[in-house]
Amino acid sequence: MEKRRLGRTGLEVGCIGFGALPIQRCTMEEAGVVLNAALDSGINFVDTARGYSDSEEKIGRHISNRRHEYVLATKSFARTKEGMAKEIDTSLKLLRTDRIDLYQIHNIKKREDLETVLKPSGALEALKEAKQAGKIMHIGITGHNYDLLLEGIQTNEFSTVQAPFNAVELKALERLFPLAREMDIGRIVMKPLGGGQIESKVAALRFILGNDITVAIPGMDEVDHIRENLLSAEPFVPLSNSEKAALNQEVAELGKNFCRRCGYCMPCVQGIEIPLLFIFHLQYERYGMQQVIPHKYAALPAKASDCIECGICETRCPYDIPIRERMKKIARDLG
Ligand code: SF4
Ligand code: SF4
Repeated sequence: MEKRRLGRTGLEVGCIGFGALPIQRCTMEEAGVVLNAALDSGINFVDTARGYSDSEEKIGRHISNRRHEYVLATKSFARTKEGMAKEIDTSLKLLRTDRIDLYQIHNIKKREDLETVLKPSGALEALKEAKQAGKIMHIGITGHNYDLLLEGIQTNEFSTVQAPFNAVELKALERLFPLAREMDIGRIVMKPLGGGQIESKVAALRFILGNDITVAIPGMDEVDHIRENLLSAEPFVPLSNSEKAALNQEVAELGKNFCRRCGYCMPCVQGIEIPLLFIFHLQYERYGMQQVIPHKYAALPAKASDCIECGICETRCPYDIPIRERMKKIARDLG
């Protein structure tokens, strides 16, 4: 796999990395199989988060014995110095390592987030102290709000920036990634498959790799996902004009207003698994699963019809998905 330099960190990482959010869904044993298969396949960048439930623990349990084989990145939602210092220590313990290569501030969503992180006694201070102490090697920033990320990297405090970029969502190419490139900041691409909505996965990844990014981190929780994702990079071949046209056609059919399955809207006060219901509905509407999906839906403990329209989830969704309206439709279609 082609290696690319992760900006000013100087680290050389394969252009397809391991997005470790989905291994939350695996059993402990299954996660071990997938993580080891990823390293066996040549993947050398693993990105997790404190917020991905037991993802850090699974990584620590299964591949800490192969620590020299991968660049390890994690992140935390902590905004204060005290909170971040604790999070770093927890990550080190769960990941069973004495150093984390890249520690990122997770999902800068609002201006207050950025201000709190940067001010005295903010999370950045803890990260800098951890770096001095050798607990972490580099500091990064992540989020879905391109303008705030742009402001973040302009402080010159970060070595990497992680943002969504895919065939549907091109905004990172406007100002964020070009500036990051100019400042020698590593460009990490989350949601490279548009949260699973883009069906032509290999073409979608080849499209991303054809741009000036460092590493794309599709989520993987099955060995087949690893094989499929690596098809885009071994070797990487840019899309031909006809392949580009086919991908554009798929994107045009998809539109903009779709769930990326990031999970930031959760938890729902009624216990509704919001992203899962969106997946069910997509499978029902687009993939001809009209027989099986209503049965699966019926087995869920909380249904779309349980939504009390409190709207809390919508304040958390970085993509402004009208979740309450969608719940009504899902209740009508699947109920
Ligand atoms: S609006 Fe509905 S789906 Fe969203 S958090 Fe409230 S109850 Fe849950
Ligand atoms: S509804 Fe929004 S926050 Fe929730 S998973 Fe989908 S895109 Fe993410």
